Amino acid sequence: MPAEALPAALRLDLDRAALAHNWAALDRLSGAARAGAAVKADAYGVGARQAVPVLHQAGCRDFFVTYTAEAADIVDLVEPGSIALLHGPLAAIDAQWAKAKGVRQVINSLDQARRWIEIGGGLCDVMVDTGINRLGLAMSELGDPLLRQLDIDVLHSHLASSEEDVPMNALQLARWQEARSLLPHRRASLANSAGIALGAAWHGDLTRPGVALYGGVPCKALVGEIRQVVRPMAAIMQLRDLAAGDAVGYNSIFVAERPMRVGVVALGYADGYLRCWSGKGSMISKGRELPVLGRVSMDMTVIDLAAAPELREGDWVEVAYDLPAASAISGLSQYELLTLLGKRFSR
Ligand SMILES: *Cc1c(COP(=O)(O)O)cnc(C)c1O
Repeated sequence: MPAEALPAALRLDLDRAALAHNWAALDRLSGAARAGAAVKADAYGVGARQAVPVLHQAGCRDFFVTYTAEAADIVDLVEPGSIALLHGPLAAIDAQWAKAKGVRQVINSLDQARRWIEIGGGLCDVMVDTGINRLGLAMSELGDPLLRQLDIDVLHSHLASSEEDVPMNALQLARWQEARSLLPHRRASLANSAGIALGAAWHGDLTRPGVALYGGVPCKALVGEIRQVVRPMAAIMQLRDLAAGDAVGYNSIFVAERPMRVGVVALGYADGYLRCWSGKGSMISKGRELPVLGRVSMDMTVIDLAAAPELREGDWVEVAYDLPAASAISGLSQYELLTLLGKRFSR
């Protein structure tokens, strides 16, 4: 029997309608530009093979991944030419694979441009660094004759502080516009999720939302537009009845003040439910809140079942994981909350 067929005690419920809704909302907010989708890091942990068909069905035609292996994971799900590889051709073999499969490389440096041209080139994207100082060609390199040999589909840049109202956004916009005037291209792209909310000037022809597709709300302008997409579900492994004075978990940081019924849930920090949730997180059953008691362990978390006394071993509870709220409680970013969710969740 393949391991995937064995029963799991953890699963990620994906609300496909909410995912399609979020893409459509971001596409509408992108105005005259089309919204693509960042599906790197296994669609932010949601499961790229699950998310991509939903996004495609909703109308999305541009998908962004980081590595060749991530492109290979979804290349059979979309039309040739609709995946772009953000880290670009790291070696000749990446370049050759992408060319053979019709995956667009995002050229981030003169070295990568040379690598792409050496294997025969073809349609590609270009990333220009306009101030974040990560990947991308420097503005001062844009006159290099090597770049004239590229056939550029999308000319990208990436915003450093799109979720904040800071002068950096206008500065990067101006540099991106200058880059657009220097390098011939078919389409231009600057905005991530929060960048979409900055306004039409930042939209270009194509936007690249990621976190907001999956339920993240990175800025105030997106409040009310975005729905929760991911619901982590975990099984109760065991019930316990505590007496007053009994302690729960490592280091006994929770001590029962009165008799109580608790559940041991199959979720721990090895699954991405980090120790910062100790004594702070909660699970949900039929709308009732079941607080986390004591310290989160590697594979287990204990919850108070006072609000749901009918629950039994084998019943499932939902982990409270509305991203803006979960971020405020845990101190983790909404991006981390998504990408932390581990391999033991069935997707
Ligand atoms: C990850 C990424 C995005 C998506 O950003 P979000 O903030 O998640 O919307 C867009 N563009 C690039 C280049 C990225 O690396």
